[in-house]
This record gives sequence, C-alpha cells and structure tokens, in this order.
Amino acid sequence: MGIRIGQGYDSHGLVEGIPFYLGGIHIESSFGAKGHSDGDCLLHALTDSLLGALALGDIGQWFPDTAPELKGIRSTELLKNVLTSEKIPDFKWLNLDMTVFLNQPKLKHYREPILNKLSELLEIERGCLNIKAKTWEGLGVESVVSASVTCLIEL
Ligand code: MG
Repeated sequence: MGIRIGQGYDSHGLVEGIPFYLGGIHIESSFGAKGHSDGDCLLHALTDSLLGALALGDIGQWFPDTAPELKGIRSTELLKNVLTSEKIPDFKWLNLDMTVFLNQPKLKHYREPILNKLSELLEIERGCLNIKAKTWEGLGVESVVSASVTCLIEL
C-alpha cells in the first residue's frame, strides 16, 4: 500500500483537415492534432502520468509510433489497453489535475464533456478531476496543443 504521484506531458502540432480529439472528445475545428494515433495529447499525458506513478515507462514504449497496427488508433483504446494490462497492479485513482495549452478553439464548451468522459473512462468521481485551460499568451505558438497531467494514485 502506498500513495504514488505521476506526471505526464505531451504536445502535438495542429494541421488543417484532420479530426481534433482532446480528452476522448471530438472538438469542432477545421484543424486537428497530428500524430501516429488520433493525436489526443490530453489522453497521452494522462496515460504517461499513470505509467510514471507506477514506474512503468512511457506511452511511446508501450505503443511505438512505428507500429503500423496503431496508425490512426483512438487514444481512448490506448488508455483502455493500459488500464486492463496485466502489467498494471490494482490501484485507485485519488485525483487528477490537468492543464491544456491551446489558443483556438476555446475549450469552455468542452470542459464538462471532457471531464465526464474521463470520469467514465477512469471510473473516478467527477469531483476528483480538474482541468485548466490556458492559452499560449502571445508566445506565437498558434499551431500547437499541449497537455500536462498530474495524478495521485493509491496502491
Ligand atoms: Mg502524443
């Protein structure tokens, strides 16, 4: 038994003409996040935070971006694959605190759908999840989405 903290960070470039997924939710936009999978950087950072807490490496080791069978896969499937893996010991989420960096589109209409989706995926109470939306604040990083996630779990 013990309390473990984990941290994850991810960034993806935004390009025109592909779907945009964040936290397992489709975001209405003319552009999306480029990636070998669906480019969902919030789920990638979240998955990495859990792997970090369990000292089990990173998402790139679990799901190489050279694997043709993973091309275009939804990141919800990657997360479910980790959560149900025999390598993952029994644990309980205590809370997750998340930050997304994105200029456009604004996330205010997506915050609740994302939190509800994560609550369902992780089987965690909605009140143990928090998401903060930031912009790049004039840094000139218009075409990037990033996410940072910290989780606390109990083994
Ligand atoms: Mg990623």
